[in-house]
Parts: sequence; structure tokens; C-alpha cells
Amino acid sequence: MQEQSYTTLCGKTVLVQRKIGLKRMTLRFSKKQKAFVVTAPILVPFSTVSRFIDGAKAWFTKVDLYQQQNLQQQNGSRIIEPGQSISILGNLVRVDFIPSPKLKVSLNNEVLEVHGVRSKFEQHLKKYLKNLAYEKLSHYSHEYAQILGVAFKKIAVKEMKTRFGSCTSVGNLNYCWRLIFAPEPVLAYLCAHEVSHLKEMNHSKKFWANVELLCPNYKHFQKWLKQNGKGLFGVL
Ligand SMILES: [Zn+2]
Repeated sequence: MQEQSYTTLCGKTVLVQRKIGLKRMTLRFSKKQKAFVVTAPILVPFSTVSRFIDGAKAWFTKVDLYQQQNLQQQNGSRIIEPGQSISILGNLVRVDFIPSPKLKVSLNNEVLEVHGVRSKFEQHLKKYLKNLAYEKLSHYSHEYAQILGVAFKKIAVKEMKTRFGSCTSVGNLNYCWRLIFAPEPVLAYLCAHEVSHLKEMNHSKKFWANVELLCPNYKHFQKWLKQNGKGLFGVL
């Protein structure tokens, strides 16, 4: 036996499916139904289901954001307006614009404030995020190179159209700055991958063994990139 009803959260429709025999509630995004779906035991009161959905609000917004970014990428629209949220290292961050004669960008308490003139809003935001990406990618690359006992020449963090990282034969590491929009462990996995190429310039068993040493759950993050990677190109 199954019952279906709809409820609304953050302006989105959530499909609530109630089934006999279920022990717990789950919330997921269904690609097939293009909607958020909650499954719940049939006897659980609606107020409990509602509380459950409410508790998952942060998760809900984040998943929704990645879906939205995937869509933006498909449509080719990448404009960020003040007040919108983006994901920085997997955290949901609201981007605000503060008119000011002085340029300043600061990030605290999940709010990123861009102070300056409106016409330069996107440019300043992008520059700040690129620097932040450089900081993180450089940190993990150094850490992993030390563990593997290898050295690289230099790191470049830039716009890349089709991939997220590369390692050249002379030992330069290149990363796509858009990794800053991915959860931090995904960014770290890319570093583990490229640094491992300093030892093995191929995708052999030996290579993957090094990746696994640096990043034990790497398969999980590979999968994440496959599903959400395109969406990272849908921001800015
Ligand atoms: Zn590779």
C-alpha cells in the first residue's frame, strides 16, 4: 500500500511517499521524477514528516543548488546576483554586495561580502574565489607531495574548460579554480590524483594505489565529480 502527497519547502515541491513496512524516513533527489522525494512509514504523523524535512533543510538547499548549477551550465547562464547562494568547499554561502568606495571581500558566518562598486562585483568575487582555490589546492598538493616523497615545480590555478587538473612532464601542476565550488574532499582528491602523476605518468595500478594511499575514499569523490562536475562550470 502506498500513499502520495505533496508539500512545499523553500518554494520547491516535495513528494511525500508513505509506504507500509518502512522503518525510517529518507529524503533524496529523484532524477527520474525531477523532484525531491521523502519516503516515510505510513503511520508516522505528518507533523513528524514535516519536522524531518525541516531538519534536512541545509542538505536540501545544497543538493538543489548543485542541480541548479547543472541546469545553469546547460543553459549557458552563469550570472550571480547579490543575495544568491553558492557552494564554497561544500558550504552554502550567501553572496552579498555592499556599496563602498573601498574594495574589500570578506567571508564569515556563511556570508561572503563583496564591498566595492556594483559593476565590478563579479570580477572581484571571481578573483577572491580564485585566490581561495589557489590556497587550498596548494595546501593539499604540498601535503601529498611530501607524503609521496615527490616534488613539483609550480602550481597554476586557472580557467580550464574540459577538466579539473593536469600534471605536465616537467612537473607542473595545473588546476581548475572552479574546484572551489566542490566539497573540500573532492578538491583534495584532485590534488591526490595530480600529485600521484608526479610518480606515475599513467593510470596504472601503481598509480591508483598511490591515490588511494593519499585519499582512501577516492572512488566516492570520482563519482561525485562525474555527477556534479558540469555544474561547477555553471557558476560565474
Ligand atoms: Zn590522471
